[in-house]
Amino acid sequence: MKRRTFLKGSAAAVGGAVALGFDLKEARAEMRELKIARTTETRSTCPYCSVSCGVIIHTLGDKAKNAVPQVVHVEGDPDHPINRGTLCPKGASLEQDIRNERRLLKPQVRRPGSDHWEDIDWDSAIDEVGRWIKNTRDASFIEKDPKGRTVNRCESIAWNGGCTDTNEFNYLVVKTMRSLGVCFLENQARL
Ligand code: SF4
Repeated sequence: MKRRTFLKGSAAAVGGAVALGFDLKEARAEMRELKIARTTETRSTCPYCSVSCGVIIHTLGDKAKNAVPQVVHVEGDPDHPINRGTLCPKGASLEQDIRNERRLLKPQVRRPGSDHWEDIDWDSAIDEVGRWIKNTRDASFIEKDPKGRTVNRCESIAWNGGCTDTNEFNYLVVKTMRSLGVCFLENQARL
C-alpha cells in the first residue's frame, strides 16, 4: 500500500468511526483523563525562553509510600495569562527534558586547571560561591573614581539571570547585587 493510499484509508476509517457513533474526540479526551487521573499538579514556568509560558507538571506516585515519584505529563497551563494553555514544540517536549537521564540534579564545580567537572553538595557550593564573591569584591572594590567622587562599585562581578527567575526572585537579586556594588546585571524579559 502506498503512503497516500494509507492516509486516505485512515481518514476514511476516522470518518467511519464518527459515522458509526464512535466520537474519537471524546475517546482522546478520556485517554488524557486516564493518564493524569492519579497525578498531582505542580504549576511551573517553561525554562526554555523568556516568553515564560506557564506549565502544569503531572507527577505520579509522589503521595504513595515507597513509590518513586515520576513526571508523566507536562502541558500548558490554561489559566496562565501568557500562554493560556498553549506551548510551542520546545515547551511541549518539556517532559523529556525533566526525565532525561543526563539532566544535572546537583551543582558541579570545575577547579582551576582541571579538565573535568566534579559533583559538589549544595552547602559546599553555597559556601564556595560566598567565599569567591567576598574575595573578588575585596580585591577589586572601587570606592572613588579617578576624579575623587564616591562610587562604591564592584566591576569584577556580573550577574546573569535565567528565564525561570520570577519577578520576586529578580527583585531580591537586584537588591543583593546593588548592595554589593555590582553594576553589571542582566535578566530576561520579565524584570
Ligand atoms: S513554551 Fe516555547 S515559547 Fe513558551 S516559554 Fe517555552 S520555549 Fe518559550
